[in-house]
Amino acid sequence: MQTENFKNELSRCLGCKAKPCEKACPLGVSPHDFIALALKDDFNKASSIIAEKNPLPQTCGLVCPDRFCQKACIRAKIDKAVEIPCLQAEIMRRGGYPDIVLPPKTNKKAAVIGGGPAGLGATYELILAGWCVDLYEKESRLGGTAWLIPDFRLPKEILEYEINRIVNNDRVTVKLNTKITDFQTLKKDYDGVILSLGKTITYTSGIKGGEHYIPYTEYLSHPEKYQSSKIAIVGGGEVALDCAMTAKKNGSKDVEMFVRRRREDMRIMARDQLELEKFGIIVRDLSSITEIKDKNGNYDISAVKNRINDQGKAETLAGTDYSLGGYDILVEALGAYYPKEHIPEDFIIAGDMSGTGDTVVQALASGREAAQKLISGENK
Ligand SMILES: Cc1cc2nc3c(=O)[nH]c(=O)nc-3n(C[C@H](O)[C@H](O)[C@H](O)COP(=O)(O)OP(=O)(O)OC[C@H]3O[C@@H](n4cnc5c(N)ncnc54)[C@H](O)[C@@H]3O)c2cc1C
Ligand code: SF4
Repeated sequence: MQTENFKNELSRCLGCKAKPCEKACPLGVSPHDFIALALKDDFNKASSIIAEKNPLPQTCGLVCPDRFCQKACIRAKIDKAVEIPCLQAEIMRRGGYPDIVLPPKTNKKAAVIGGGPAGLGATYELILAGWCVDLYEKESRLGGTAWLIPDFRLPKEILEYEINRIVNNDRVTVKLNTKITDFQTLKKDYDGVILSLGKTITYTSGIKGGEHYIPYTEYLSHPEKYQSSKIAIVGGGEVALDCAMTAKKNGSKDVEMFVRRRREDMRIMARDQLELEKFGIIVRDLSSITEIKDKNGNYDISAVKNRINDQGKAETLAGTDYSLGGYDILVEALGAYYPKEHIPEDFIIAGDMSGTGDTVVQALASGREAAQKLISGENK
């Protein structure tokens, strides 16, 4: 952020006594307070009070949506809300990170299973309470789904730096490439176990030819593998938009999003609607793909138009079938879930798997809450 823009944005804060922005932050970080310090050029103190409560502070500044602190900002009543997450990211960049001061060790040890934001949030809270943590992660790195957030929004060196800051100490033992399947047996070796496994199953539309879709998890993990000139992405949320933007940035000429509902119903931020236009992404709204046909590596699709009925639901409009062709990549980005029936009883769960949120900051808050339960002896 340019210094002039940064200072201008800081100066738009009204310093509201009631601090609605603080109340709206899932982690209780106070924009009111950190902006006041930044206005006095005390970036060091400003970044410290952010990082005390948020263990992934610059990451959240870069990726937090506008529906928490920013939505609560009183300045919106005058002109527009202060762009708090951007300010948080910039303050962290300027102010740096305080050392994490750990209390003496207790004799308590927890297992945290799943090294995404929720597991990291739980780990941070546990070590601050003197606990030791074995952090189990099935993949070869920590960070979970945050790795799928494209680099142009979240440079991964920032994520890595912030993760290392949490785990590089004598309290945390990281066990990578370790998928836990028997949670009950593991429980016997610890004073408590927290499960933070994320959403493990992607939704699929189940249409004829649906096997030709690439799941968004695969596409965003290795976008360089999927060079395309004409790509179709199914889904109308932020994840689908990330796929579309990634395709554009990777040189795809034609990027089309197929959205079941109206364009204005897309679950994306207002500023992202502008991005769609800026990058020339075609939105085929009120459309559902019904079949995919493989034409030797290129795909034809059949689709049908929808309408929004009186109950506000999208329903198919009979007789509106249409066909399009020449796609070389098709991506399915309909979201993911953790199957409730697989959640083991008598465990504390945190993050996306618990269905309490779908953002990094909510996962961190949920991890913190899970750790607090464990620390206070609510371990079931
Ligand atoms: C494309 C995309 C873009 C996004 N953009 C944003 C954004 O802009 N802003 C935002 O705030 N959020 C965003 N999110 C959402 C955010 O990434 C998630 O809400 C957050 O990562 C959830 O954290 P979690 O720890 O609950 O789960 P996850 O991050 O999914 O972590 C779960 C971890 O558990 C591990 N695991 C699972 N099972 C086991 C097992 N049996 N044993 C060991 N380890 C296991 C997994 O490998 C994973 O590392 C985005 C998500 C996607 C997919
Ligand atoms: S609500 Fe907005 S204007 Fe008021 S203190 Fe918070 S950031 Fe500043």
